This record gives sequence, C-alpha cells and structure tokens, in this order.
Amino acid sequence: MGILIRSATSPSLTKIGGVPTGVGHVDWPVCKSCKGAMQFIAQVRLADSDDPEVSSLSGILLLFACQNQPGMCDDWDADSGANAALLVAPGDEPITAPLNGVTKLDLETFLSLEPYDSSLSQAFDDDNYVAAVDGDGNVLGKIGGGPVWKQGDETPSCECGQPMRFVALLEERGESGVNFGGGGCGFAFICTRCNDKAKFLWQC
Ligand SMILES: [Zn+2]
Ligand SMILES: [Zn+2]
Repeated sequence: MGILIRSATSPSLTKIGGVPTGVGHVDWPVCKSCKGAMQFIAQVRLADSDDPEVSSLSGILLLFACQNQPGMCDDWDADSGANAALLVAPGDEPITAPLNGVTKLDLETFLSLEPYDSSLSQAFDDDNYVAAVDGDGNVLGKIGGGPVWKQGDETPSCECGQPMRFVALLEERGESGVNFGGGGCGFAFICTRCNDKAKFLWQC
C-alpha cells in the first residue's frame, strides 16, 4: 500500500473503540428499544474525508449501536433508535462511558488515513476514497467514495427529506469486537443541508 499519513504528536481522531476523543460534550445515547446505554463503535473526523462537501464540516462523527441484547434491538436499522450517529464539535471534554450496559469495544484502534492509489491493490470495489488503516497496515474501513453495499442500497433520508451523503464505511474485521452480524459493514451518513444530522446502519 502507499504512504501512511501518521502524526507523531497527536493520535488520529478517526478511530474504532475506546470512548469519544477530542470532542465537546456528548450525551451518551440510549437504545430506544431496551433503554440501555449504547456501545461506542467509532469516530470519524470529517476533515479526513476527501469529499469537499463532507470535509468542509469541521465536526467529528460518533457512531454507536446497542449491544445489550445482540440481535434483539434492530441496531442495523438507521431509523430504529437502536443505533446513533452524532455529529459533534471538536473539543477537549473528558468523556467516560456509562457504568451500566455494553458500552465499549474490546480494543481501541487508531486509524491512519491512506490516499487512494489506483496502482495498488485496494480493499474495496471503489475508487476515490481514503483508506482507514490500523497500525499493522490492515484496512478497516474507508472515508469517501461510495457506500459499496453488501445488500441493496439503503441510503437513508434525513428528516428534512434530503437523501443523506455517505461519509464512511467500517468493516467488521480484526479484533476490535465490532459486531455487524458476522462479516458485515457499517455505513455512516450525514445531511449536507442540515449540517448537524447523521445516520448509521450496517449490513452483512
Ligand atoms: Zn437495545
Ligand atoms: Zn437534513
């Protein structure tokens, strides 16, 4: 693969697991179905996208899904209330996970971002994206390009009526503990009209 972009001084704000990092206040989301605290899955710094409509928004997208009763709360569904995508401002609030519920993944994985290179073998059937790569060089997702669906197109609509814009894809791969139904992919979207609305879903 190509050259990895790494910062020697500060960890990437695009990562899988841990707790939200480098953000302002977050109300930790609760599952509409079981009322338990959701699991924090990942965060994406929008500035890491090569899509100008996305990167011009300075926020950080936080992705959560309910894992309190795996398979029972429809956490794959963008509109079930069993997952959450929160677009939040950068900041330095210390965020802690709720004590009750399945709220954290097994591992925290910081992701480096690698520009698409058509001369190299790529992880996705797509182009013009930025690959999200862990410290061992494993591609765990991508930012930008298209959603590369596993099933049919499920691009969600915003409550304003506009189809949402794809931001990032996250693979259920590696040892992070992400559960997308077994080999699935998560898909994150924002509304470029409202600028503060986001949705998340997964397919396997
Ligand atoms: Zn639930
Ligand atoms: Zn909207």
